Amino acid sequence: MTTIAAPLALMAELTHRCPLQCPYCSNPLELLKAGAERDTKFWLGVIDEAAALGVLQIHFSGGEPALRQDLPQLVEHATARGLYANLITSAVTLDESKLSTLAQAGLAHVQISFQGARPQTADRIGNYRGGHEKKLQMARLVTQLGMSLTVNAVVHRQNLEELPAMIDMALELDADRLEIAHVQYHGWALKNRAALMPDRAAFEAADAIVAQKRQALRGKLTFDYVVPDYYARAPKTCMGGWGQKTLNITPDGRVLPCHAAETIPGLTFDRAGTTPLAKIWFEGQAFNAFRGTAWMQEPCASCDMKTIDFGGCRCQALALAGDARATDPVCHLSPLHQQILEMAETESMADERDFVYRRI
Ligand code: SF4
Ligand code: SF4
Repeated sequence: MTTIAAPLALMAELTHRCPLQCPYCSNPLELLKAGAERDTKFWLGVIDEAAALGVLQIHFSGGEPALRQDLPQLVEHATARGLYANLITSAVTLDESKLSTLAQAGLAHVQISFQGARPQTADRIGNYRGGHEKKLQMARLVTQLGMSLTVNAVVHRQNLEELPAMIDMALELDADRLEIAHVQYHGWALKNRAALMPDRAAFEAADAIVAQKRQALRGKLTFDYVVPDYYARAPKTCMGGWGQKTLNITPDGRVLPCHAAETIPGLTFDRAGTTPLAKIWFEGQAFNAFRGTAWMQEPCASCDMKTIDFGGCRCQALALAGDARATDPVCHLSPLHQQILEMAETESMADERDFVYRRI
């Protein structure tokens, strides 16, 4: 019998509201309105249960979590329960007073998303005028207040040429970490794929830049690099393995094994506050649907990599192969691999530049 370890992290999606409208947002296409959000009492209870379950990190996320007035209270409560508190934010609704309050409440880490290195590019992608300048101001404040800063740079065809400038920007902001993530094609990104897909030459050039800078800046800036799936040979170990490291709670309180799990039909998502979090983690139908390796089909079932990458992403398998149990088609052993590669190359040549912006 396989032992199920406690989760490492809880992703608390406090709200789907966000002033930005990124065309690659990982939130679902059907966004929840403010009225569907759970209240402070609910989230305080979730934090208590998570700490008792053994969770070590809480990521306050959204949408834009700083739109919640109770964010400092939740951060304070999480810190008091021994959790490492991280805020994943667009930063445009923050100011000095709010950031100071959060720092005093115990917030340890702030991840600020940047849509580019130049204001014109970034503000167009997020569809929010003045956003880039505000992010720069808030990023400087984060480090001045003694919190760790990660710069999140999501890259794609329409901003990849700014990659060297984004690296310089992270250095200038004194970030501890720079996460360069090629767009993952879920949610809104799948809808905008033809406008976002880079061509292979641009992807290879970006790879070389990251490799060179990572070496040159060793000890100064830590790099996390997420490659574009469709050009990969092997899939990512999605979420560190389904139901193995992370719980994701939606603004209306449903507990998911990953943020896109709702796209998979036939899964039942229990509600926190109604069912104990520990029961959901250990016994929940959705968490056990793809846990471990017993559910796998060939070629995963007899592959040496199956306990390393767990067959890749289930949501991507559904989106591209039409079957959530299939091998993630980005894997070179998938019968669909070549087709996906050719589709990526064709889409990367598209004239499409206009975005379908994320809207509630
Ligand atoms: S990706 Fe953009 S739109 Fe989506 S939550 Fe983050 S900042 Fe808001
Ligand atoms: S066949 Fe499955 S387990 Fe093997 S590398 Fe591909 S996705 Fe991973």
